[in-house]
Amino acid sequence: DVTATKGNEFEDYFLKRELLMGIYEKGFENPSPIQEESIPIALTGSDILARAKNGTGKTAAFCIPALEKIDQDKNAIQVVIVVPTRELALQTSQVCKELGKHLKIQVMVTTGGTSLKDDIVRLYQPVHLLVGTPGRILDLTKKGVCILKDCSMLVMDEADKLLSPEFQPSIEQLIRYLPASRQILMFSATFPVTVKEFKDKYLPKPYVINLMDELTLKGITQFYAFVEERQKVHCLNTLFSKLQINQSIIFCNSVNRVELLAKKITELGYSCFYIHAKMLQDHRNRVFHDFRNGACRNLVCTDLFTRGIDIQAVNVVINFDFPKSSETYLHRV
Ligand code: ADP
Ligand code: MG
Repeated sequence: DVTATKGNEFEDYFLKRELLMGIYEKGFENPSPIQEESIPIALTGSDILARAKNGTGKTAAFCIPALEKIDQDKNAIQVVIVVPTRELALQTSQVCKELGKHLKIQVMVTTGGTSLKDDIVRLYQPVHLLVGTPGRILDLTKKGVCILKDCSMLVMDEADKLLSPEFQPSIEQLIRYLPASRQILMFSATFPVTVKEFKDKYLPKPYVINLMDELTLKGITQFYAFVEERQKVHCLNTLFSKLQINQSIIFCNSVNRVELLAKKITELGYSCFYIHAKMLQDHRNRVFHDFRNGACRNLVCTDLFTRGIDIQAVNVVINFDFPKSSETYLHRV
């Protein structure tokens, strides 16, 4: 999906040479369809509402124009990328750092669950691009240590999630700190109608990109097993013995069930990590990092983990508990 293009090339966008080098060194040869659509438009300064399915390269679709637009000689936060989870913030900042490897752009990542004091100290140093979760960015902004008056681009990745009741108030407050000339880019694979009100208020005339006409779950084979609650672990055990699992992610609906299932899987003799929101951030980061590096075959988690996470080796996703909405199902798989 990231390779089928109209034949455009990254050269066509007249990007800074150093940025182009970072793109090629990351192994991107041609822009993916969502990148072809969004990079030139984002560079014009237009607001964007972009919908494209998971795994199609949305991250670079906003990181590339963000890095291009930043003036590295100007010591100010010029772009803020907001994402719903800490893991996604880390992953996204990593992409920015890799793409911007040859630029002198300072990227900072800031999320809840880490030392606020460290972030405050870090903000005394130059920061051009800030990636983080809404609550922490707002905190720092209200304290006056994070200054957004020169921030001309706000990116909302997994935008519909950021407009859930949990986050929307912070997002709206954050927008008030931006200059009037700000540009807002919203990206997601899902845009429920509830997004409309926000869109009408803050980006009334966005450039709309919708690449969802193709089958959303193309390339993914889906199966279901109809089992009683008490037979689920047994069924999972059977699946483990029959499937060729490279790495798998197994979703449960609660913190408790994650811990219980991880214990059961370990007892069955399979290597297993787990992640949920009640774990300390350091621990979460370590598990995420180790899993991505292949230290373990299976990861049990809550929906904390559904959005935007890109781990190439995962070839099996198991909905151990039924997802609560079709959108959740989509993001999980
Ligand atoms: P999305 O946010 O749409 O789910 P990601 O931005 O996480 O997708 O990208 C999915 C994968 O595709 C990543 O591993 C990324 O490195 C890769 N990718 C993105 N753009 C390109 C490209 N132009 N060429 C090759 N691979 C790409
Ligand atoms: Mg993404």
